[in-house]
Amino acid sequence: MSKIGDLIRRHLKNFTPYSTARDDFKGDRGIFLDANENALGSVTSENWNRYPDPRQSHLKEAMGKIKGIAQECIFMGNGSDEPIDLLIRGFCEPGIDEVMIFPPTYGMYKVVANINNVSVNEVLLTQDFQLDMTLIKSALNNHVKIIFICSPNNPTGNLIQVKDIWDLATVFKGIIVIDEAYIDFTDTPSWIEVLSKFPHLVVLQTLSKAWGLASLRLGMAFCHPKIVDVLNLIKPSYNISGPVQNQVLKALKEEDQMRSFVEEIKELKKELESALNQLPIVLKVYPSEANFFLVKFKNVQEIFQYLIRNEIILRDRSGLVLCEDCIRITVGTAFENKQLILTLKNYLKI
Ligand SMILES: *Cc1c(COP(=O)(O)O)cnc(C)c1O
Repeated sequence: MSKIGDLIRRHLKNFTPYSTARDDFKGDRGIFLDANENALGSVTSENWNRYPDPRQSHLKEAMGKIKGIAQECIFMGNGSDEPIDLLIRGFCEPGIDEVMIFPPTYGMYKVVANINNVSVNEVLLTQDFQLDMTLIKSALNNHVKIIFICSPNNPTGNLIQVKDIWDLATVFKGIIVIDEAYIDFTDTPSWIEVLSKFPHLVVLQTLSKAWGLASLRLGMAFCHPKIVDVLNLIKPSYNISGPVQNQVLKALKEEDQMRSFVEEIKELKKELESALNQLPIVLKVYPSEANFFLVKFKNVQEIFQYLIRNEIILRDRSGLVLCEDCIRITVGTAFENKQLILTLKNYLKI
């Protein structure tokens, strides 16, 4: 692989980032007259008058323990969508470099690349939603700086084969991102465990799914400290607000609750799957390792609109390659799943 320092965009190599007022002093105690805050307090009773820790050190300490990883290998963002953006902006020269993605997959990689005027090299997944290694190898070229792999993949729900990712990580010289937004729902180990073998690997995770904290906006990139440095260099200084840091710190103590949610969701998922499979309008429920299913329907558009009229909102994925006639369904509560199935049964009677 190439050195991280060689992969970073040229104009960032000698770039001086914004230094925050508190970079020169690390303690918590002192008389702080350096940041033009309101020293008297907040207009509300909360203590929100001080700028938050730009490096989230308490949070990283707690996260590092949970994930078994050194703090220097953790970057935190406003959702994992933020590191997706920062990686592209840090490593891809607009108009010159490319990112490689494998549709059908999470839409944000392409959107962020487009916003940054970075070309997207798309190689379709195979019919069973795995990497097409032959096509990928012939599509790779010197301008591909980042490869995004989503596993379990959204919207298909399946894991990408370990040996293919391993193979890619061995031949590709740029940055390989593995988006593990749904890893907590699976029984497979995270790619975090092999970070030391592959210094150009970035593992993305989020608190938005299994942890149930989507509203707080906290995502993580686990990677070599040199990549963390690049992300820190270009991130907005205070990208994680103080209240969010405090709430997440509390929430991270509830890992057991997260695990029991996961177990409950798995049960609900089994019931939903068998109920869907009994409906004649359902052509296929794709196997899923995540908390959602990709489902192929007869009369997909009519059913989607009918459900909206009945205030049941699913994600229409029928416009995506290899997802013709498919809708993505998130596992809901027992009540919500039952309503969905009832409503679909009523459609059959119309
Ligand atoms: C939901 C999701 C995310 C991220 O979300 P944030 O809420 O921004 O952390 C990232 N990747 C995939 C594949 C997702 O499905």
